[in-house]
Amino acid sequence: MDGKALAARIRADVAREVEQLGHVGLATVLVGDDPASHVYISGKHKAATEARIEARDIRLPDDVSEADVLALVAELNADDGVDGILVQLPLPGQIDETRVTYAVAPHKDVDGFHPVNAGNLYLGTPLHVPATPAGCMRLLAEHGIDPAGKEAVVIGRSEIVGRPAAMLLLQANATVTICHSRTADLGAEVRRADILVAAVGRPGIVTADMVKPGAAVLDVGLTRTDEGIRGDVDPGVADVAGHLTPMPGGTGPMTIALLLESAVRAARYRRGILAYPTL
Ligand code: NAP
Repeated sequence: MDGKALAARIRADVAREVEQLGHVGLATVLVGDDPASHVYISGKHKAATEARIEARDIRLPDDVSEADVLALVAELNADDGVDGILVQLPLPGQIDETRVTYAVAPHKDVDGFHPVNAGNLYLGTPLHVPATPAGCMRLLAEHGIDPAGKEAVVIGRSEIVGRPAAMLLLQANATVTICHSRTADLGAEVRRADILVAAVGRPGIVTADMVKPGAAVLDVGLTRTDEGIRGDVDPGVADVAGHLTPMPGGTGPMTIALLLESAVRAARYRRGILAYPTL
């Protein structure tokens, strides 16, 4: 499942939608010097700018206070030029991530991390949805894989990937199992999967013997090693799976594309083109 190609098409669609709307503003906030976060933010910015989204790249020093970050978020919430706000996680230890996540206006929360957005996903009425699992669902749709009635297994239960992926698959009428570090027999659970989402961050944790022949496998885990970027899925799985995302070039580019879609959605919420219940 070629995420790069599909992401390019989505980004071109986003550029057309931005043109129709006239203006879409996205503010990103990066605190500190985490090298991975720098890479992610730069990628998001480049893609946003190419799609003609006005991207504001706000960088704060590692020792910034929580009060200053909250004041900045309040400013961005009130700023009419800003449709979407993204605060790159993780934040340095002196800043409470939950407090910052709660502070972002829900309709501008393009990451879908605010409890109002997480709650609506849980209730089956999604508004802003985290981009990585949303990208997984788009890859399935693109390949004609309807989750309805299928066994879906998600490895990982983070708020960023695992949980929202499970909720989206449930909403699409799959029978969903969520695995995590305390799962007693990971292989036994995974072997049932018609659709597998691996979001752990342990290179090669999913091996060919764990995968049902013909399954659709979405590799989200991403680990930088001396040999390059490795996914959670062992390369041998390609011989067994019916569909598989490459790493890199699978779920990563889709995450960026779906984030841009979120920015457009945020612009529609703010203009009242789409209804956001709390506005
Ligand atoms: P996270 O918060 O660290 O969550 C990892 C999850 O894996 C946890 O739920 C953990 O279980 C579970 N886990 C750990 N060891 C396990 C084991 N041996 N067996 C089964 N489950 C196990 O990470 P995250 O933010 O969800 O990200 C997961 C991975 O995806 C990372 O590699 C990250 O870099 C990558 N990622 C990729 C993209 C993309 O665009 N491709 C986007 C976001 C993240 P517990 O809950 O029990 O601890």
